[in-house]
Amino acid sequence: MPERKKMSGSARIFVTNPMEGLIERSGLDPLSGLRNRADCTIWSGNTSVDSRRWLSLISEAEGILCSLGDPMDSDLIRSCGNLRVISSCSVGVDHVDLAAATRRGIYVGHTPAVLVETTADLAFGLMLAACRRIVESDRFLRRGDWSGRPGWDIAAFVGPDLHGATLGIVGLGAIGRAVARRAQGFGMRVLAWSRSGCQVQGVETVDLERVLAESDFVSIHVALAEETRALIDRRALAAMKPGAVLVNTARGGVVDEMALAEALASGRLAAAGIDVFEREPLAGDHPLVGLENAVLTPHIGSASVGTRIRMLELAVENLLAGLDDRPLPHCANLEELRRAGH
Ligand code: NAP
Repeated sequence: MPERKKMSGSARIFVTNPMEGLIERSGLDPLSGLRNRADCTIWSGNTSVDSRRWLSLISEAEGILCSLGDPMDSDLIRSCGNLRVISSCSVGVDHVDLAAATRRGIYVGHTPAVLVETTADLAFGLMLAACRRIVESDRFLRRGDWSGRPGWDIAAFVGPDLHGATLGIVGLGAIGRAVARRAQGFGMRVLAWSRSGCQVQGVETVDLERVLAESDFVSIHVALAEETRALIDRRALAAMKPGAVLVNTARGGVVDEMALAEALASGRLAAAGIDVFEREPLAGDHPLVGLENAVLTPHIGSASVGTRIRMLELAVENLLAGLDDRPLPHCANLEELRRAGH
């Protein structure tokens, strides 16, 4: 088993984002604990997308604090000879080459659980915004298009009701269950499909075909995996109820975006609310961008001040634990490290 070093008072840490906006909004600085215990280099460039720009700063780092937009690929991991912990301020670790990290005995920390309720709130917000055409009518008003028309128009911006409708949840994990609880408060009938077929009170567990065929709203909450990539493909979209609403706050790769854009453009689906995309950031000329009935948000599922602070605190806890060679509160590659004999 490789020997692990305890953290020295001046462990070198690289932080990929200054988080100024969050610190300003919250009045808190979750990085202060880290600065007191380590020699921190905080990247203050306005883009973190190209990790090669960091190489000269990062190569000596023993720990990295990063987030979803920061690719931690095998080249980067290989070029950091002292690296012992990658702590990501996210649940998903799709941006980290877990196999490369595990081979080197590097802990990969992540921040599950703390963002469940906040992400469920956004899924519900997207459902409401999409069916009640809130963003579309906001754009109409700001363009000045309301003037010269009736103040109240019986036919304007009508859409499907949320209360009393049927919600189909795809993936009954923590966020799927939190969405189901909200739906019950709105008097919705809740159907769900989940790989494990787990049972939740007030939720009718059925197969995916029934979820698609019977739901007025379909909300996606499965993790992105080999089996769930393009799970909601052209065929699945065609199997949805005409006039239904699709919401995706899970991962872009779960939905065929081109087929979705066609279903929205043809009016086959009434609307969609989408927070996550196959390629992020979303290109300005993506077919979804031109559609009035698509409500699009830039991956903000966990973006409440309280939740982002909690995620950051947890990421700092993970980082300090890893540098001290203590168990991380949340380690994404724990099993793999054990299997590899670390
Ligand atoms: P979770 O509790 O781990 O639930 C994951 C769900 O995905 C479960 O229903 C699980 O099914 C299902 N699943 C996993 N692997 C699968 C596979 N190979 N085939 C079929 N189903 C599979 O996670 P969560 O906290 O609810 O989060 C769900 C997803 O939301 C995350 O994976 C993440 O990608 C996304 N997310 C997005 C944001 C955002 O900012 N928009 C924020 C947080 C999370 P079983 O229960 O049957 O195992």
